[in-house]
Amino acid sequence: MRELVVLGTASQVPTCYRNHNGYLLRWDGEGVLFDPGEGTQRQMVLAGVAAGAVNRLCLTHFHGDHCLGVPGVIQRASLDRVSHPITAHFPVSGQQYFDRLRHASVFYDAADVRAEPVQTDGPVAAGAFGVLEARALDHSIDVFGYRLVEPDGRRFVPELLSRFGISGPQVGELERAGRITVADRVIELAEVTEVRRGQRFAFVMDTRLCDAVYELADGADMLVIEATFLQQDEDLAQRYGHLTARQAAGVAAACGVRTLVLTHFSQRYLDAVDRYRQEAAEAFSGDIVVAEDLMRIPVPARR
Ligand SMILES: [Zn+2]
Repeated sequence: MRELVVLGTASQVPTCYRNHNGYLLRWDGEGVLFDPGEGTQRQMVLAGVAAGAVNRLCLTHFHGDHCLGVPGVIQRASLDRVSHPITAHFPVSGQQYFDRLRHASVFYDAADVRAEPVQTDGPVAAGAFGVLEARALDHSIDVFGYRLVEPDGRRFVPELLSRFGISGPQVGELERAGRITVADRVIELAEVTEVRRGQRFAFVMDTRLCDAVYELADGADMLVIEATFLQQDEDLAQRYGHLTARQAAGVAAACGVRTLVLTHFSQRYLDAVDRYRQEAAEAFSGDIVVAEDLMRIPVPARR
């Protein structure tokens, strides 16, 4: 199962309808919690997500709307006796803020939190899920965006298997050995399989347009990206280090993104959901989701 559980969508301050940021990516057995702002623990309750669903924490930066939920989430994991480790990634320059959030109040500390701060661009973790990479973005303080890249694999094509008369246990043998002999002919794995493209997920917060935004979004099946402003306030976006909905959609179009998830909205546009969508649709023809709290958005099925 691969889906995004949206826990919050507000930048800077929560509103009556939007909690601070918070996004749980469920990616097979992996649960990656991105940027838990204030109130994330409660949003997880409302979304029906247990603390035990989180085994990785990715913080883009240490402005409050992206990290004030860390104490609640960690203390809840401790209270619930979550037994697996929780690996935390964040910009290394914010280590002092992470340490404070990690130990923000008195509690019976049973959580196994392993800090692995991000030092520089590149891979930060690898596992069955693929490779988690970070890229520095362009904001008023250090920000890292993330992407999850599943390596390409191969899948069997049933018509080709039957054309070569391969069936039953022979398929497993071919998969293990890379080749098989059938009726005196050696058949290579590549002859009966096709490339199964790995899926990609990208997470881009609090940044002006820069090369790293495009590198993160490149070929993403799902791109979650901040659209703090509408294009009418492009000057403010530039000044404060943010994106507009049109800029975010332009990135999605340039990078071949499939599902574009806009979020991190300024409270200045209270009823602007339609305008975000319209503006994005002018630049991007793929799937556009203007995120709402507690939405569940499936990662699009493999092509
Ligand atoms: Zn923010």
